[in-house]
Amino acid sequence: MKLSVTLPNKNYDLLIEKGGLTHVGTWVKSLWKPQQIVIISDDNVENLYGEQVEKAIREAGFEVSLIAVKPGETSKNLATAEKIYHYLAECGMTRKDGVIILGGGVVGDLGAFVASTYMRGIHFLQIPTTLLAQVDSSIGGKTAVNTSVAKNLVGTFAQPDGVLIDPNTLLTLEDRRLQEGMAEVVKAAAVADKELWDLLSTIKDEKDILNYSEEIIFACCKVKRNVVEEDEFDTGIRLILNFGHTIGHAIEQTQGFGVITHGEAVAIGMCQLTKNAEKLGTMPSGLLNELESMLTKFHLPIHLEEWEEDKLFEALTHDKKTRGDSIHIILLEKIGKAKIETISIEEMKNYLEK
Ligand code: NAD
Ligand code: ZN
Repeated sequence: MKLSVTLPNKNYDLLIEKGGLTHVGTWVKSLWKPQQIVIISDDNVENLYGEQVEKAIREAGFEVSLIAVKPGETSKNLATAEKIYHYLAECGMTRKDGVIILGGGVVGDLGAFVASTYMRGIHFLQIPTTLLAQVDSSIGGKTAVNTSVAKNLVGTFAQPDGVLIDPNTLLTLEDRRLQEGMAEVVKAAAVADKELWDLLSTIKDEKDILNYSEEIIFACCKVKRNVVEEDEFDTGIRLILNFGHTIGHAIEQTQGFGVITHGEAVAIGMCQLTKNAEKLGTMPSGLLNELESMLTKFHLPIHLEEWEEDKLFEALTHDKKTRGDSIHIILLEKIGKAKIETISIEEMKNYLEK
């Protein structure tokens, strides 16, 4: 399945295909002329897929090497970026060469940040290997690293030359990672794709997703592609993808990153917002029920045992996206249709009630 992304300064394709990794060499050759390639990955993904990808690209006529970082969010920083810059320089990489990013959202954000800043930007391709990266982070061109002050504080907007998604890579993913990816899938369906919601309704659990992975990933990529085409630099409609995220980020911060996954926090965030929106009459009733049963089916949490409104409010007002007196919230008009509303920080308190 192919999906084209058309932006003012760049067009490229997302290729979604089970077993796509087996012809990664042909894919790269169809996009780039023979040149030097560095693959950026993490240790886990290197162990699983590094050799296969490196070999296929070499056989396609490229000079190729691989650098792997330590898995996890702690690698998404400037110090690791610097190590990769040095590696690229040692390999003699120039702007005629290219980087391939193989892994989840962490190496996706980090690798694309490095590629978009090394020598003021070199070409790169994305091969996302987690569900979260396949349905969300590898599309849209946002790159980032964290600093000690905040997550994703430093970054660029940079689009790849292509994205190859092989849903078979999900077979090696831990259950909890698959589940958290499902939170973003449910979100995409809830805000913009009723048909996808209906498809998800027919699915048993997150394992069953693997039987429909191409269709599901394609639908999510399409939702994201559509908003990115309309709003490449994230100043308008793209905000709808933040459904459940304002509260979700506050939950991640107060629980501690790593204790709760991003997807779990977003699942709780969507339910919390919807519960209070129904009470306040800003969302039609019945949606909470639908969301809760969908998320529970994928073994995602729908509420926190300990809910500390004050702490959450504090975390929320410190979030870099909520500076000022007002805040954007994303509400559902119905399943498959979202709207953006601006409310005061004080009004936001109503959505945090237990
Ligand atoms: P991740 O990259 O850390 O991957 C999770 C874990 O799964 C890692 O340990 C990794 O080694 C392992 N892994 C990856 N693929 C695997 C596979 N196929 N089989 C087995 N193990 C595998 O985390 P993530 O959840 O993919 O991404 C999270 C990051 O994405 C965060 O830093 C977040 O800020 C970022 N993000 C970016 C955007 C964006 O628009 N740029 C959007 C959403 C999230
Ligand atoms: Zn998210």
